[in-house]
Order: sequence, then C-alpha cells, then structure tokens
Amino acid sequence: MSEQRKILIAGSGPAGLTAALYSARAQLSPLVVEGEPSSTSDQPGGQLMMTTDVENYPGFPAGVMGPELMIAMRAQASRFGAEMVTDKVTRFDLSASPFGVWLGDPEAAEPTYLAEALIIATGARSLMLGVPGEDRLLGYGVSTCATCDGFFHKDSQIAVVGGGDSALEEALFLTRFADKVTLVHRRDELRASRIMQDRARANPTIEFRWNSQVTAVLGDRKVTGLAAVDTVTGEESEIGVTGLFVAIGHEPNTGVLAGQLTLKDNGYITTFGGTKTSVEGVFACGDVQDDYYRQAVTSAGSGCMAAIDAERWLEKRGS
Ligand code: NAP
Repeated sequence: MSEQRKILIAGSGPAGLTAALYSARAQLSPLVVEGEPSSTSDQPGGQLMMTTDVENYPGFPAGVMGPELMIAMRAQASRFGAEMVTDKVTRFDLSASPFGVWLGDPEAAEPTYLAEALIIATGARSLMLGVPGEDRLLGYGVSTCATCDGFFHKDSQIAVVGGGDSALEEALFLTRFADKVTLVHRRDELRASRIMQDRARANPTIEFRWNSQVTAVLGDRKVTGLAAVDTVTGEESEIGVTGLFVAIGHEPNTGVLAGQLTLKDNGYITTFGGTKTSVEGVFACGDVQDDYYRQAVTSAGSGCMAAIDAERWLEKRGS
C-alpha cells in the first residue's frame, strides 16, 4: 500500500529544505526524499556539501562551512515537523494528483508514496573531468564555482578548464583575485560567444593554453599543479597552479522526470509565473530549474516560493 502524503519534496539542498521549512510551518507535514550519500550533487544537502567556506550566504558575517549550513537548514526544517527519508526517487508518475513516487524498485506495481502536491528540488550537477585527483581535492583547490571560491585564490596562479561562456565568465571573475589565470581548452577555438571571447582575450591576466586536456590534478592535501597532455602532439606537461576551476557545463538532475514535465532545450525544468511547472500540482525550485543564478541564496528563495505556491494550490482545490 502506498503511503499518502499531502506534500512531497524531492531534494534537500537549500531549495528543498527551505520548501520543507515553509510547508512544515504551514502544517502540511512534508516528506523530504533527501537523496543518498554519494560524491555527487544529488546527495543529501546537495552541492553545498561539497564546498568548504560559504562567505556569501547572508547572515553569516564570518562565513559558514557548506555542510554546516546544510545541517542547520535540515535541523530547522525538522524542528517544525518535516520528515526526511534518506533515499532517491527512482520513478515519478505525474499523470494526475495524487502523484506516484517510487523509491527503490521502479518496476514495483505500487508507488512508495502518493503525494497530492510535489516539489521538485533535485538540483543540478557540474560536469566534471573525471581525472585522478579531481574528486579527492574538491573543496581543497578544485572548485566548480568562482563566485563561491575565487576569494580564496588571492595573488595566486590558477587554471580554468573549458572553452564556453561559463569558463570565460569564471576566468574573467577570477582575474579579480589571481595573479594569473590559465584558461585550459582542449581545442584551439573557443565555443564561447564573441563578446566573452573579446573580453577574455583583452584581459592581460588571462593566458590561454590551447589544445590541452587536463589528465590529473596533482597534490596531496591541496592542489599543487595539473598534469596535461597536448591534444595535437600528445606531449605531456605540468601546469603549476594552486587552484582548478572546472567549467565544462552543468546538467540538471531531471533524469527521472523524462517525458513528464516540459523542459527547456538544455534540460532544465520550465517554470511559469514563479515555481509552477507544466503539470498542475507539481512545483520546481532551485538549480533544477535555474540555469542562470545558481546561488544558494536564490535556491533557498525559490524553495520558499515553491512551498507557498504548493500551499495555495492545495488550499484552492480544497485539500
Ligand atoms: P558549454 O557551452 O557546453 O561549454 C562547455 C565547454 O567545456 C566547451 O568549450 C567544451 O569543449 C568544454 N568541455 C566539455 N567537456 C569537456 C571535457 N571533458 N574536457 C575538457 N573540456 C570539456 O557550457 P557552458 O560554458 O557552461 O555554457 C552553457 C550555456 O550557458 C551556453 O549556452 C552558454 O552560452 C550559457 N552561458 C551564458 C553565459 C553568459 O551569457 N554570460 C554565461 C555562462 C553560460 P568543446 O568546445 O571542445 O566542446
């Protein structure tokens, strides 16, 4: 027998936990399917579990560690009665409310839960290079967010990998802090827009390293350099940097929603007038629907919006 819930939230980053806090305080007894421990962004707590100091979340003048912030958000939501399940959704049935939500075997005849309203806050993940050392040194010199971590690289030499707008945006931002930013790109032509290319080429702090693929991140407890290979000649070399920013794109965690919600061309959920999705009663917040701001504070804000939207929708239909 499926357990029926008024509101189910998938995801437990700042968006999911803020939605949980608001809907718990609205007496909707939300259930949060928070993800499973892993090294990726769809683990409980989301991408902030992989960062160290967070200095741009309002209310923390001395900064706060990413995991500490998420533990506090979880405790705050729990305090008002939000219930957490440490598991992953393996299947949704969004054909009509109450929506089916499966944990475990997606082929099971009955969904694990039936939810009158759903909030999707499953986040996004940065694409990673997948080379030795990268995962181990994430948060110790390897980063996927210049806005978050650029400040820690004052007067140093750092590298950005990628040739798209994100990489150039990150590189340009990082020139505020670093003495030298090496843009490592696997081809000799950038994918980024002309305007970003012009800006980056005009910046004397950015040096381009063409036809180069990073093959390993070097360092024991923090980044001390990169191993790279020339994609044309095969020549191997080392790049002496203390930071690596990986900017080769993001992908939203929308796999289990395939074909059931309207998505943008880049795979992010399309939202209408706040957090409504193409299915009535299903709301989306945080990075899974945001390919532009991608900040903890904007995610938390949209989580609040989703909870209010869901609450009003439930109220209107008399639930
Ligand atoms: P993107 O345009 O897909 O670029 C990804 C870059 O990473 C490409 O240059 C690609 O190389 C490289 N790359 C991919 N996999 C790699 C790997 N395994 N190893 C090394 N390099 C790899 O992604 P994005 O830059 O995140 O941009 C995504 C979208 O957001 C774009 O539409 C972009 O215009 C937009 N955006 C806009 C702005 C802005 O307007 N200010 C800012 C950020 C993003 P190749 O070129 O060889 O494929």
